Amino acid sequence: MERRTKIVATLGPSTDDPKVLDKLIEAGVDVVRLNFSHGTAEDHMMRAENVRNRARAFGRQVGVLADLQGPKIRIDRFKDGEVILEDGETFTLDANWPADAGTVERVGLTYKDLPNDVKRADLLLLDDGRIELWVDEVKGSEIHCKVKVGGKLSNNKGINRQGGGLSAPALTDKDKEDIKTAAKLEADYLAVSFPRCANDMHEARRLFREAGGQGGLMAKIERSEALEVIDEIIEASDAVMVARGDLGVEIGDAALPPVQKSIIKKARNLNRVVITATQMMESMIENQIPTRAEVFDVANSVFDGTDAVMLSAETAAGKYPAKAVAAMDRICRVAEKQQVTKRSHHRINTRFERVDEAIAMATMYAANHLEVKAIAALTESGSTPLWMSRISSGIPIFALTGHVSTRRKVTLYRGVYPISFDSKSRDHATINREAVDELKRRGVVRDGDLVIITKGDLMGEMGGTNAMKILRVGEEAPPNDVCATP
Ligand code: PGA
Ligand code: MN
Repeated sequence: MERRTKIVATLGPSTDDPKVLDKLIEAGVDVVRLNFSHGTAEDHMMRAENVRNRARAFGRQVGVLADLQGPKIRIDRFKDGEVILEDGETFTLDANWPADAGTVERVGLTYKDLPNDVKRADLLLLDDGRIELWVDEVKGSEIHCKVKVGGKLSNNKGINRQGGGLSAPALTDKDKEDIKTAAKLEADYLAVSFPRCANDMHEARRLFREAGGQGGLMAKIERSEALEVIDEIIEASDAVMVARGDLGVEIGDAALPPVQKSIIKKARNLNRVVITATQMMESMIENQIPTRAEVFDVANSVFDGTDAVMLSAETAAGKYPAKAVAAMDRICRVAEKQQVTKRSHHRINTRFERVDEAIAMATMYAANHLEVKAIAALTESGSTPLWMSRISSGIPIFALTGHVSTRRKVTLYRGVYPISFDSKSRDHATINREAVDELKRRGVVRDGDLVIITKGDLMGEMGGTNAMKILRVGEEAPPNDVCATP
């Protein structure tokens, strides 16, 4: 059985070695993430190309996710690279301070408007919350703070405010340039960091399309104010990421588990795809096996219904990238066997707006109540398999399509597998047989098994799916059967 939950791995220095990249693909990576917070445009172009070349060599499809840096608010640099802040001392963040001249008393800021966004008694969290500063007073460009929790603070560390509310716009000038790079390397998904509202997503989509990008838009949920308009943000996106790193700093780590469950549920209900991200296998940056807590974290997000689980530094900068993927792979497979026997209320009260959507839902109802081995969705845009995969089932859904962009996009959908399929025939019996042959060749079905095929009367038309056919393998109609129904 194939694994249903997809694995996203971040590329970086540790995966640039061709041997490591090959091992990563062999271990079962479905999507790679290019992190635009690090590296040059050339690095990302090269990594995307390498990954696609190697995936092709393995006969696999690997999606590419371009992840924008966003307005992560950061301190500038220190004269000596780092300082040690002592509890109770004063420390000033100064928007007018030279970028490389930080000292134990004062450091510059990349985001010059920060002094306008904070006020006395705010709690600022630096370096993912490791350092805490109370704001004493804001004077012009200077934010005077008292160190609540000190420690080592080094160059370019991020700043969050507890409770959120820092107003930096989601797309920086750098992001706008990076969107062009993402379009050029034909990213299958573009991830927007720190979106505050649906409009941030619309704006990113507009710029991505303007640059020629075709991929889906992903909202990283990592600001507390995003949670207040979460439905709108999800609806403005094709996919979302539960970005537990920054979100945890803003809302507090203890608030994360229920928020993760609720974002996953909402995304699925709204027919969107969802990734669970950050620190899933953190200890594997250094170690060959995960901690028990990490095993449970990955399994629990599978139970929550996530489409994909993500690796960050574990693969990008860790010692054992392929082992981290292999660990996720084995944990997901076992977790998926845990049958969640709850009755599906998925969209029980909604009125379907589209014929293809109704076919997708009818297919899942039939497939879940019959002993169906596999579903073959002949698709152009991938919408039909997306709708199908929002319903929990153990039945594999194959997206048969002639479009490489669709094959790459579905790499992120739970339980959906891409197959290259370009029928020259217009005769439905022949097409059915070709589709079943593809599944047989993969060892998914054999004679006597039931399969469901969905397709349209007019092959090659977007949104044209209007039929489902239930077939017993080995008993397909012969090609000369001119039975008119597809
Ligand atoms: P990042 O986003 O890795 O780009 O910071 C994910 C997160 O914040 O969890
Ligand atoms: Mn983040």
